[in-house]
Amino acid sequence: MLKGKTALVTGSTSGIGLGIAKALAQQGANIVLNGFGEYESAKTEVMALGVEVDYHGADMSKPDQIEDMMKSAASKFGRVDVLVNNAGIQHVAQVEDFPPEKWDAIIAINLSSAFHTSRHAIPAMREANWGRIINIASAHGLVASAHKSAYVAAKHGVVGLTKSTALELARTGVTCNAICPGWVLTPLVQKQIDARAEKEGISIERAQIDLLGEKQPSLQFTTVEQLAGLAVFLCTPAADQVRGVAWAVDGGWTAQ
Ligand code: NAD
Repeated sequence: MLKGKTALVTGSTSGIGLGIAKALAQQGANIVLNGFGEYESAKTEVMALGVEVDYHGADMSKPDQIEDMMKSAASKFGRVDVLVNNAGIQHVAQVEDFPPEKWDAIIAINLSSAFHTSRHAIPAMREANWGRIINIASAHGLVASAHKSAYVAAKHGVVGLTKSTALELARTGVTCNAICPGWVLTPLVQKQIDARAEKEGISIERAQIDLLGEKQPSLQFTTVEQLAGLAVFLCTPAADQVRGVAWAVDGGWTAQ
């Protein structure tokens, strides 16, 4: 379905981003990977699916590096047809204890980077009259939790950015939507489970069940494959009129 097209996925050396990159590669898209993790192994995994793969190590908190990544992707592959804004970090603390530099980093990486990649990708998408911008927000883009002020603010911002972008592109073949996962067992969440187990003196298994029980009524983690399946669907013609949506995949978290 995506043969001849190029997808750039930020933060795709692990977790959700890598899963989405692999699913888009399975549909034939060439892939630009990005992120700070083990990029050689990520690249090998995606190349095994028979597509061309490039990696750019841009730091999503640095607009000049983002510009370089977008320009280098366009010069290698012609243009970016599918942009997945996925890179993200987390920090947990109450507002009065929240380190300002962590606040700035979360807003830059989780929110502003999506603005910068989008502004560079949109002109060529408009010209081709086809494109997909998929922003990985969160259940925290729709509702809040305590101790996550920067993350919640950034993810609500991503949902707002998604709606504005979708409206600006409404009369073109370019769509913009957000995916809002609940808990997914990736390195980002594993860190929170480990911290909880240590703080409360409980096992990792107990900490996992407690974490799910607080928020996710299904008591099951959302999987990377489920999110990747939705990203692929958003690239199909069936999703041509899905615009500006914030689509929860959260085991019922935000239905409560
Ligand atoms: P992860 O830690 O496995 O992946 C994050 C990726 O972002 C990694 O590739 C990392 O190297 C990259 N990254 C971090 N800082 C970066 C920077 N400055 N520049 C470039 N890349 C950077 O986490 P994940 O759980 O796969 O998270 C992916 C996205 O999904 C994030 O936006 C996260 O907020 C969102 N999300 C995750 C969950 C969850 O439960 N895991 C739930 C909702 C939303």
